[in-house]
Amino acid sequence: MKAVIFDLDGVIVCTDDLQFHAWKCLTDREEIYFTREINNRLRGISRAASLEVILERAAKHYTEQQKEEMLAYKNAVFVKELENLSSTDILPHITELLKKLKECGIKIAIGSSSKNAQMTLKQIGLSTAFDAVVDGTEIKHSKPNPEVFLAAANKLGVKPEDCIVIEDAAAGIEAAKAGHMTAVGVSDARHSPLADYRVDDVLEIAEIACR
Ligand code: CA
Repeated sequence: MKAVIFDLDGVIVCTDDLQFHAWKCLTDREEIYFTREINNRLRGISRAASLEVILERAAKHYTEQQKEEMLAYKNAVFVKELENLSSTDILPHITELLKKLKECGIKIAIGSSSKNAQMTLKQIGLSTAFDAVVDGTEIKHSKPNPEVFLAAANKLGVKPEDCIVIEDAAAGIEAAKAGHMTAVGVSDARHSPLADYRVDDVLEIAEIACR
């Protein structure tokens, strides 16, 4: 193995609460039924696809223009909330894992569907920690399409077969496998039947990658 590609949200940092709150501001405004359970279905999918899931419970039809306004509104709320994020929000053992991977010569990258990935990394103090970052502004297809991970491997100059992907969402595991990479499931993705490895503690990833 030559590289480890990390999903960002739910792997490096958890913005679930911020995401939930931002969508909730929108659904309250529009009087659309929205719960944490519905929010859980939005993990790993694009902003536009997330809105379609939310609109399943809407009482009225929205035009494309209205949908764009809604997405812009939600994102504005979310970006405002991101300002509260700091290095204390980095998930347990991630900093130690990154250090161990560097020590054994493994390249590290971010492969995130989020258009706010750069800002998130900056807020948590990791904007220069990765050898490559591919985010939602650089891809056409969101996960389970492998585009984001293939682009990250390409930026690193590493073959997909030599990459490990760390994901917390089933769609991300699917994307990694579609890109012929080794997939490690953490959190919710531990239940994905496609995952090659399932870990409770991310430090186990150093053992898998540095073998
Ligand atoms: Ca995720």
